[in-house]
Amino acid sequence: MQLTGASQFINLDGWIAEKAYFNPGKIVFDIHRDRRLALTCPTCTGKMSLNRTTRHCIHDIGFGPSTKMELHYEAMQGRCRRCRKYHTIHPPGVDAASATTARYRQFTSMLCRGMTLCDVAEVMGVSPSTAYRIDFRHLSATIPPPSYDGLSAILVDENAVRCGELFATYVINARTGELLFQGVGKRSETLLEFIGQLTEEQKASIKAVCIDRSGAYTAAVKSGLPHADVVYDKFHLISNYHDVIDTVRREAWKAASECDKAFIKGQRYNLLRNIENLTAEMLLTLDQLLQSNAPINTAYTLRDQFKMIWSYDTPEGMKTAVAQWIELALNSAVPEVIRFAKNLSKSVKEIIAYAVHRITNGPMEGFNNIVSRIIHRSNGIRSLAYLFLRLRAETMPRVRRMTQQCDQGTVSTA
Ligand SMILES: [Zn+2]
Repeated sequence: MQLTGASQFINLDGWIAEKAYFNPGKIVFDIHRDRRLALTCPTCTGKMSLNRTTRHCIHDIGFGPSTKMELHYEAMQGRCRRCRKYHTIHPPGVDAASATTARYRQFTSMLCRGMTLCDVAEVMGVSPSTAYRIDFRHLSATIPPPSYDGLSAILVDENAVRCGELFATYVINARTGELLFQGVGKRSETLLEFIGQLTEEQKASIKAVCIDRSGAYTAAVKSGLPHADVVYDKFHLISNYHDVIDTVRREAWKAASECDKAFIKGQRYNLLRNIENLTAEMLLTLDQLLQSNAPINTAYTLRDQFKMIWSYDTPEGMKTAVAQWIELALNSAVPEVIRFAKNLSKSVKEIIAYAVHRITNGPMEGFNNIVSRIIHRSNGIRSLAYLFLRLRAETMPRVRRMTQQCDQGTVSTA
């Protein structure tokens, strides 16, 4: 069967679709280079003499898994008289190494964004490793390198990219959510590797770094970005205090009589969740526990006061609130709470820095979910370079969206 108007469907600049025909399971387009065009060097545009031609068969976007589409053509190898080099001319966007057109790679990559590699492989009629290679190639060619200019605040966190075996440190632009860096490990040196890539001007523009209380990252910021404020992440600190409550609960359980254990049993969830997320029944059992056990009651009451620290607008307000909380905690007579308060008193500066910079590692939580999703979709980590590009691709639309909102003045860039 002859198809008419095939040239419009192919639309490759300088190339003409000669004929199209059906073969079992595929449509084949025979294309050739426009013979009126001179053979010119892609480097210097000088004239080339034809050396030889080679036959190629390239995958183009088909019609689902049942009907593939192929482009057949002859690539022309010429020799540039000026450069004295050989160049082979393929249709625009065609990658001879992967035997694909640009739109084929783009479409495969789009599918990889929302589907597992196995599912993409099934749709495209290739193997999962081929789908992976095509996506990797497309991302490498289209994802721009991170921009460090105008960086004012960064978020740093670690993530287990291979269950308990391999950790990576991630750096995110706190204002746009763009992923800037991925380094192997969670040590001070890993963060210093990122800082080492920055120019003096870029380093100077970073005013705040949000991290958990990990000593490794604090040391890296102090030595690499000495002028920047370290902001201890609010959510990590609250989570640390939740661990304290849980320890108090466990200690109370060990010390309780069989009768009292009934009040403590199954209360972990109720103790750690926000009160508005509890049902009437949960509230009643929680209340019974708090009335029956003084240490748990004290630790629990201090939790809400602890969270209030971040509700103050000024560093002075936060400083007073932290000091008051530490004093209450030191007088609580609960050893775990006292130990936490003593540790906290060493980090007052990093806690109240929140009032100035207003950043948390909250966006990191969403980002960590993306990391898990990508690892799951790829059936584990195939390469860290690929993971980085996929993560950049996922955070890029957000970057554009945020930049647009900033331009429209709907997001504070202070
Ligand atoms: Zn040349």
